[in-house]
Amino acid sequence: MRAVSMDAPGQVSVTEREDPRVIEPTDAVVRLTASCICGSDLWPYRGVELADHLLMGHEYIGVVEEVGSEVLTVQPGDFVVGSFVISDGTCELCRSGYQSKCVNAEFVHGTIGTQAERARIPYADGTLVATPGQPDDDLIPSLLAASDVLGTGWFAADAAQAGPGNTVAVVGDGAVGLMGVLAARQMGAERIIAMSRHADR
Ligand SMILES: [Zn+2]
Repeated sequence: MRAVSMDAPGQVSVTEREDPRVIEPTDAVVRLTASCICGSDLWPYRGVELADHLLMGHEYIGVVEEVGSEVLTVQPGDFVVGSFVISDGTCELCRSGYQSKCVNAEFVHGTIGTQAERARIPYADGTLVATPGQPDDDLIPSLLAASDVLGTGWFAADAAQAGPGNTVAVVGDGAVGLMGVLAARQMGAERIIAMSRHADR
């Protein structure tokens, strides 16, 4: 299969790699329908972070092709949104709502990489969420936003205890900030102040 590699800062290539397969019984293999370029991909691109043949991509959606024997919540044929951090969903940290700090946490970019045709996703039960049925094409961009930025913005609004009657200030209007605005509204915040340098946002 083909996959995107950040070979060095500013050097991106499409490489041929072995097709992923189920290794652990908690794995799933996902055929990727769409994958984002995240703002954080620019850090290694600019040389702010190490870039040495990183497998790129951590915002992704796709169709499950194969699951290990212990995977219970997704099955082949399911359309799934995947989290940008692998989490088992069962450890104490996951159960407390801090899945990104799971004892088995692993970032999807770097070693897994979803700017590719397929990906092996460890801990599929904790990391993948199946959609009800197959989404229409026009929903694809919105579902991609649920892979990273929606969860991150929601977490921020939740941590700030946004809720009915509250005034919430969101500092920054990137994708995560805008999702923080939507999340705060969903949680019932009465007044939301978005701090921005972009009038159109
Ligand atoms: Zn966990």
